[in-house]
Amino acid sequence: MFGDTITAVSTAIGEAGIGIIRVSGDDALEIVSKIFRPKDQERFSSGIGFRIYLGQIFDPSANFLVDEVLVTVMRGPKSFTGEDVIEINCHGGLIAEQSILKLLLKSGARLAEPGEFTKRAFVNGRMDLSQAEAVIDLIRAKTSLSASSALEQLRGRLSEQIKDTRLILLEVIAQIEAAVDFPEEDLEVETTESLRYKLSQVIKLGEKLLNGAQRGKIIRDGLNTAIIGRPNVGKSSLLNALLREDRAIVTDIPGTTRDVIEEYINVRGIPLKLIDTAGIRETQDLVEQLGVDRALIVLGNADLVLFVIEAGRDINEEERLLLSKIPSERLILVVNKIDLSTSLPIKVAAPIFYVSALERVGIEELEEAIVKQVTGDKLADTPVISNVRHIVALENAISKVKEAFESLENGVPPDLISIDIRHAWQLLGEISGDTVGEDILDEIFSRFCIGK
Ligand code: GDP
Repeated sequence: MFGDTITAVSTAIGEAGIGIIRVSGDDALEIVSKIFRPKDQERFSSGIGFRIYLGQIFDPSANFLVDEVLVTVMRGPKSFTGEDVIEINCHGGLIAEQSILKLLLKSGARLAEPGEFTKRAFVNGRMDLSQAEAVIDLIRAKTSLSASSALEQLRGRLSEQIKDTRLILLEVIAQIEAAVDFPEEDLEVETTESLRYKLSQVIKLGEKLLNGAQRGKIIRDGLNTAIIGRPNVGKSSLLNALLREDRAIVTDIPGTTRDVIEEYINVRGIPLKLIDTAGIRETQDLVEQLGVDRALIVLGNADLVLFVIEAGRDINEEERLLLSKIPSERLILVVNKIDLSTSLPIKVAAPIFYVSALERVGIEELEEAIVKQVTGDKLADTPVISNVRHIVALENAISKVKEAFESLENGVPPDLISIDIRHAWQLLGEISGDTVGEDILDEIFSRFCIGK
């Protein structure tokens, strides 16, 4: 469908055992043939797909051996992009990968733009837009829970539901048009009844999806969390206690995707995204450094504030004031160092946890409370919708359908509600990519890295 054949290194740059270079397009086989000497020339020349061929990459101009490689051939349309795709597994590290890439470019391929492989997969109908977006969610997932949520989306769980819902709306539109064409009296009563039923079905489906949206968004993007308290109350120690053995702080590497460093810790599959004002360290002594008002501004972005105080030591006026101003549903008070002192009685509306970060006492209960903050009481099902773009489109669509439903209830003739229904249908199409504009597509795919 696209004229040119694209290529890029698809693995991360750096020292590694292997690196993979992807080539996609009508001329993929021809281009790779110019620089690849397969061991079994006959088989490779036959172009049979879904096979791996051993051989050597050489520079044809100098007849110079570049690397020993494995070449995987995947013929379109049943490939990732829907076109002929070839993946060259070479040795990792800068030299081999870059040399092969250069040779491919010399042989007629063009360097792929960020996300262009996935964009081609979308444009060629291999996946819908929400699935394409799931590719990047999966790559960026911070915990196994966020990964499985992305995988569900990649496998089409959201796509299916959106497709079904749009289908109902299409039926509604068709029904309204038929009613306009044959405006017999009793047909209209029947039509109204059936329209009402279908619209209520759509509202129900939409609301079910939206119910899990907040949770889905947190699993995907992380829960903005601030750990604050005076110096030495044990904030770093608490962070370490929450990190424990198998959990590492995940840091987005600056420059690869966005130019910011974000730190996450994984608490039972929920990524806690640590609030970073100008470096995590600075936030830690927020109470000491800033006045209450300024602290509240910084904490404005927090979904959750873990406010740490020390057992056996009275809280000061500033802490008391700050505590009273943070909304209780976003606040968890952590009284640390209970191994040293009996806990002090303190009154706040928020949940209080007594812990010893040093001796790992009370940490499990605290984790449970954090998870509960996100999930409510139900952990079971992975939410289907998680991406803000999807959530907004769905919310708008459902509100249009609700307007239409109410109009119908108020006796407005069906043909007058069809504008709202069409609008809702179009909004849902933005999720699947059926009705999305080129500018939004460009914006989405520009967030990908080269090679994806
Ligand atoms: P931060 O300045 O709030 O980050 O505090 P740190 O985590 O650096 O802890 C300050 C000191 O308190 C360190 O010497 C810790 O070992 C100690 N500490 C932290 N948590 C506990 C605890 O639960 N019990 C005891 N006894 N000491 C603790």
